[in-house]
Amino acid sequence: MKTVRKGDTGKEVKQVQTALQIGVDGIFGNLTDISVRKFQDHNDLDIDGIVGPLTWEALKIDEVKEEEPTPPNTTTDSNYLWIFDNGHGGIIDGVYQTSGKRSPKWDDGSILYEGEFNRAIVNRLMKLCTNAGIECVNLVDTQEDISLSRRTDKANDIYREQKDKDGKSCIYVSVHANGFSDESANGWSVYTSEGETKSDIVASVLAKKAAAEFPDEKMRKDTRDGDADKESNFWVLRKTVMPSILSENFFMTNYSNCHNYLLSEEGRDRIAKIHFQMIQEVEEKKLV
Ligand SMILES: [Zn+2]
Repeated sequence: MKTVRKGDTGKEVKQVQTALQIGVDGIFGNLTDISVRKFQDHNDLDIDGIVGPLTWEALKIDEVKEEEPTPPNTTTDSNYLWIFDNGHGGIIDGVYQTSGKRSPKWDDGSILYEGEFNRAIVNRLMKLCTNAGIECVNLVDTQEDISLSRRTDKANDIYREQKDKDGKSCIYVSVHANGFSDESANGWSVYTSEGETKSDIVASVLAKKAAAEFPDEKMRKDTRDGDADKESNFWVLRKTVMPSILSENFFMTNYSNCHNYLLSEEGRDRIAKIHFQMIQEVEEKKLV
């Protein structure tokens, strides 16, 4: 394997990014550099950001591990089709597709692009669910920034098709990171549409998992005092015809939230984990 480092481009860089589960654009930029260094740190390698023979080997082992099937799927079928929405655009040819929706550039040079983070979580969830035999779909399987109305139209189409096919219901999960003008704002939250609906049952399971996983973090019960135009007043929750939730996974505008969870592979794993735990509980207990 060719040695690659910051500034390089091409298919090897894409392979590194795929293995690290970060945005795959083939450009070895800041985020890739940070992710490689973190990976090297976790794997007792020299932390130099250079993907040489040893790092390649470790990345491959990691990849193989991930491909290994998780415990045999004992459920014959899942009770719901889970629709994951990764909110905002991704990164195409090194260009983030959405204006705003990013962290400040921190002193260490790192920056979090929300759409890239959202995709990293959704990609993990797709993998976890697929391995567990839980039906799921990535609503926006592209790096493009797809409008909110197209997202909800597509989700509703999937819902209707599924109903016609076998009567199975869908549950819509939109994954985001929060942002606010005041850097001190922090914590985790989940939203549903107004009123008491089936969505609230799903959201409260997720909130419970989040509180258990992140006991030292602020669990925001009502963040309507936060960003006023948050995801366009939750268009996706108002316009979807199925149980729908939207998680705001910590604040990208808060230094420690951003570094501990959003820019961190381990943090991303934990955020994906709480969503997956929610899915498992809702599936097992047929909660909605
Ligand atoms: Zn968002």
